[in-house]
Amino acid sequence: MEALYLFPRHFLSAVRTTPSSALWCPRHLTNPHLSAASKEICSQLGPSAMPRKKVTLYDTTLRDGVQGQGVSFSLLDKLRITERLARFGIDVIEGGWPGSNVKDMGFFQEAQSRSWWGAKIAAFGSTRRANTDISRDLQIQTLRDANTPVVTFFGKSWKLHVTEVLRTTPLENRSMISDTVAYFKHLRREVVYDAEHFFDGYKDDPEHALGTLEAAREADVLVLCDTNGGTLPHEIEEVVRAVNRFFPGRVGIHTHNDCELAVANSIAAVRAGAVHVQGTINGYGERTGNCNLTSLIANLQLKLKLPMVKDLSELRDISLFVDELANCPANIRAPFVGATAFAHKGGMHVNAVQKLACSYEHIRPSSVGNEQNVLVSELSGKSNVLLKARRIGLNLHMEPQTVKEVLLRIKGAEADGYEFEAGDASFELLVRDVLGQRRPLFKLKEYHCSFHCAQTRLHLSCKATIKLSVGNSATLEHTVGEGAGPVEVLDKALRKALRPFYRWVDRIQLTDYKVRILDSSRGSAARTRVLVVSTDGYHSWGTVGVSDNIIEASWLALVDSLEFYSLKLSNGWPEITSR
Ligand SMILES: [Zn+2]
Repeated sequence: MEALYLFPRHFLSAVRTTPSSALWCPRHLTNPHLSAASKEICSQLGPSAMPRKKVTLYDTTLRDGVQGQGVSFSLLDKLRITERLARFGIDVIEGGWPGSNVKDMGFFQEAQSRSWWGAKIAAFGSTRRANTDISRDLQIQTLRDANTPVVTFFGKSWKLHVTEVLRTTPLENRSMISDTVAYFKHLRREVVYDAEHFFDGYKDDPEHALGTLEAAREADVLVLCDTNGGTLPHEIEEVVRAVNRFFPGRVGIHTHNDCELAVANSIAAVRAGAVHVQGTINGYGERTGNCNLTSLIANLQLKLKLPMVKDLSELRDISLFVDELANCPANIRAPFVGATAFAHKGGMHVNAVQKLACSYEHIRPSSVGNEQNVLVSELSGKSNVLLKARRIGLNLHMEPQTVKEVLLRIKGAEADGYEFEAGDASFELLVRDVLGQRRPLFKLKEYHCSFHCAQTRLHLSCKATIKLSVGNSATLEHTVGEGAGPVEVLDKALRKALRPFYRWVDRIQLTDYKVRILDSSRGSAARTRVLVVSTDGYHSWGTVGVSDNIIEASWLALVDSLEFYSLKLSNGWPEITSR
């Protein structure tokens, strides 16, 4: 049977309807134009059998993902991504390698003081070094001090690596693995053992490779890694099935995408009995990337009918959110979540999908938060707006006129270069503006910003002056800010002007500032998008500004940040007076 419209009923009921009049397969059982044979096929695709034991989702975006070129996250980015993934339903989130850099250690310190909606945080490392007492191994101590509920470490499965890279014996290699497992089990940590190069090692010498797993027997999960990404799906399935006979219910899979098979390989592993899958959002990772968790989750939930996450319709938003924080342009052709994943251009296809959406679509686009991209009507994008509004606590379902107006504003802003995925606060201000709930903090008369650089380059300085009025006051506030960079001086001058009226302005700190050049083919004339992340020590929020001028783009994002905080205070955010 070719078409797979496999939605268990409980998922269907969670899926929002789209404005499109086109009919989509599982809902057509009442369609009078459908033949009896088609109805029969549809009905066979109805409720699924009871899902089997849940497959654990293990995200390694923050560790393996940042090995990818051009991908890097600040500490705050890492915390924001962890929060988003945890709420989405990822079971284990790997925060980094605590021994490898200071930023990762900072993450683990911060992670301990927070709760993560049932998700567990993992720290990553390696086995103890060869011929070293584990209690004296610095890397192991740092891994222990990260104090995470889950400890993941890798060991060598391929004899070639043991003798040629580690330059030790298979016996010592097995001791390194078993000592490290025993050490962390003794500390009552959940242990995930990553068997590096397992498939290559198994092909080379199955007895040796299985012997290394035997050494890790006490670990909670034995993850078979296709580290070089060269294994094919049928090989993966065969090997996982064989290993699963020795270690039933404890096998995991970690694949790389060198043959563009990482997702297929993970699916093959799950079919062969793997109960734990690892990957990165959008497939970030070194070389050609890791298993793309975004596609894998959709495939497991929609095609294999395994319950992976609570609300799969968040998938596209999460993909875009991580791209935005990584400062990577989103891949429009990404399966499931890309802008063109459900775009139809060919006349016959368009005609067919308008009659019957499933004629050229393998799933309902809204089930992954995407949408059919055919009718360029003023209502396309509606489901996304409703989803985002719901996340910030606004129910717009009953207000079609408002949704229409918000859509028009968003489309205009997006055409200008705005992107609201990480600028959630600017999105909320836009919606509030449409609802007539936006209250500007001040009236700007003018601002001026200058930069001075002497020939010696010893004295670089920036200065900003601002003239504005607050409320109905006739007095013009005129302030000056001085410092090293344009954003800093604008921020200083703005706070100085607002301080007498809003005592909370000094509670806000800018914690991140990102610049993206749009339309880089225009060179220095390109438009600039600025993302600012602010915090009051308790909440954090992102705002965006877009302009041909980087200073103006920064100004817009700064003003949005303050205005958003003011709005939140008046809507019941508690004032945090001490930090
Ligand atoms: Zn890897």
